[in-house]
Amino acid sequence: MTVPAIELREVTAGYGPFRALFGVSLTVAPGEAVALLGANGAGKTTIARLASGLIRAEKGSVFVNGADLTGARAYRYARAGVFHAPEGRSVFATLSVEENLQLSVRAGRGHDHDPIGQAYEMFPVLGARRRQIAGTLSGGEQRMLALAGVMIGAPRLLIGDELSLGLAPLIVEEVYRVLATIREAGTALLVVEQHVDHALKLCDRVALLEHGTIAWQGTTTEARQVVASRLFDSAAD
Ligand code: ATP
Repeated sequence: MTVPAIELREVTAGYGPFRALFGVSLTVAPGEAVALLGANGAGKTTIARLASGLIRAEKGSVFVNGADLTGARAYRYARAGVFHAPEGRSVFATLSVEENLQLSVRAGRGHDHDPIGQAYEMFPVLGARRRQIAGTLSGGEQRMLALAGVMIGAPRLLIGDELSLGLAPLIVEEVYRVLATIREAGTALLVVEQHVDHALKLCDRVALLEHGTIAWQGTTTEARQVVASRLFDSAAD
């Protein structure tokens, strides 16, 4: 059996006295794409934070690539190849486009090619704005810059929390095109997404969260056939 890129085992977690997750078990295999769907407040972001070491499990365990990182700090998750793309733009606002990309090169694995040049080929809009300060890019451009950084860093697992939030439909399409490319390059994906149809197109499996527990999980095909109405109802809340 292959070692999962990430495995949550019976995890309970929350914030202070508040419990947001109750015994959640979830795995993402290497190169697999899993969508986390569910209503507002169901616990999706909390799972994303747990899976990148930003919050700790109260009970249960978290394994990254076979290593038990339960309770470890976020940098250990990052070293193990987990990249967390949080909600929002997630670029260094005061650095230029090119400086942002250079940071990804340093953080990433060894490169024997020109990763920044490749990023500009894939994202011509960034090439044209390479000296522009990232904080002055449009929301969509900043998201592209963040994703270009992910491509350069080539993480083992990308945790994407609402990567299409607040973007115009055409840019959302572009975000999903890039996510598919990142995935084809071998990165596993765990994505929190409100756009159910996009998530179903990209992902192999779906986990539906309800009130801090996984109410259903299965393949995307099963999700379409069996619980499509439930997913849509839930994600549209
Ligand atoms: P949404 O789709 O609205 O982003 P979500 O499924 O991502 O929701 P979470 O953000 O994981 O949900 O929140 C789960 C629960 O934990 C919610 O009840 C929320 O109010 C609570 N919560 C989240 N962050 C904190 C925090 N920092 N402190 C206290 N409670 C929190």
